[in-house]
Amino acid sequence: GGAAEPPPKLVLDLERLSQVPSEKAGPLQRYAATIQSQRGDYNGKVLSIRQDDLRTLAVIYDQSPSVLTEQLIGWGVLDADARRAVQHDEV
Ligand code: C2E
Ligand code: C2E
Ligand code: C2E
Repeated sequence: GGAAEPPPKLVLDLERLSQVPSEKAGPLQRYAATIQSQRGDYNGKVLSIRQDDLRTLAVIYDQSPSVLTEQLIGWGVLDADARRAVQHDEV
């Protein structure tokens, strides 16, 4: 795509997220549940999150946003397209 293309949305697959063992996914599971609660958005199979939230989660997981994104793609929680969101973000 061209330089003017907007970054892709970060869309969490909540069904896959619930299947990842909580030793690994616990912080993200709690973070997503908090956003759902703040929005009153309880019935979705997916949850769109802010680019800023990925940065916050990277701090929580003590990883770079791109390494965390790869992990979430590996879990099936983020689409491979999310890579472009991070590339776009890491300047
Ligand atoms: P807020 O950040 O003050 O946003 C107030 C309202 O503005 C939101 O109410 C929503 O209707 C709208 N809004 C703000 N940013 C966006 C956006 O990027 N896209 C869309 N579609 N709407 C937006 P809502 O959804 O009831 O959320 C209430 C509060 O919950 C928000 O207040 C914020 O403090 C928190 N929140 C909700 N979703 C998220 C999230 O994905 N990440 C973070 N960090 N906080 C969130
Ligand atoms: P989209 O962004 O491609 O989302 C497609 C569908 O994924 C949505 O259909 C909804 O079923 C689900 N989805 C995505 N993000 C969330 C989420 O955070 N929570 C929940 N519960 N479901 C989510 P829906 O609702 O019929 O929306 C169709 C299209 O309408 C969306 O396509 C988007 O283009 C637009 N849209 C809906 N809500 C918003 C919004 O808050 N902000 C913006 N900018 N567009 C919206
Ligand atoms: P979206 O609703 O399509 O919004 C796309 C981008 O437009 C957001 O990316 C943000 O940069 C900007 N934007 C939209 N509404 C607002 C607003 O009220 N205030 C500000 N300051 N910026 C706004 P971002 O932040 O990465 O969010 C990505 C997606 O996450 C949003 O797509 C929406 O689907 C969801 N989201 C984020 N925050 C909220 C929220 O507070 N409430 C709800 N319901 N959805 C949110």
